Amino acid sequence: MILQVKKYGDPILRTKGKLVKEFGFELKELVGNMLETMYEAHGIGLAAQQVGLALQLSVIDLQLPPDTRETELTAVYDSKETPIELLFPLVLINPSIVEASCEKAFHEEGCLSFPGTWGDVVRAKWLTIKYKDLQGHEHTLGAGGLLARCIQHEMDHLNAVLFIDRLQKSELQELKPQLTKLQLNTKKQLTK
Ligand SMILES: [Zn+2]
Repeated sequence: MILQVKKYGDPILRTKGKLVKEFGFELKELVGNMLETMYEAHGIGLAAQQVGLALQLSVIDLQLPPDTRETELTAVYDSKETPIELLFPLVLINPSIVEASCEKAFHEEGCLSFPGTWGDVVRAKWLTIKYKDLQGHEHTLGAGGLLARCIQHEMDHLNAVLFIDRLQKSELQELKPQLTKLQLNTKKQLTK
């Protein structure tokens, strides 16, 4: 089932996610719906808050073309070097950062909750996280490149932080009219 993606201005996006404690059928159904929603919207990540639920849960699929040979896109899954495409769709439940590089990278980001808005965000170049899978089993994942960026963007959502919070002041200033418009539109929809 395709779920409605919550847009900027909806208070749920500013609500910190609660830890997931039940790993039953309902969770599997929710994750299935989140994946369907993400693919339909051509997104590469979706957090529970974006479908109206304040939970520590997000899904990621970089949807790499089959011939991708990006050396930066490596991952260490449970201490084993793993071809990145085998990880997708990646379901992150109750994720936490174990280690993040001091080395940072700037890159443009967008978000399904901010249609038509992009901005440059500084993030750690690589990081190691631990998280639970759909069965409630714990894993570690070391990632760099786009995957590391996407994980940080999603983990921010779970903690009620949005990518616009990480833009440089001048860029945020430039986007202000667009953001205010989106926020007002969302608020109008909510009071309908
Ligand atoms: Zn987002």
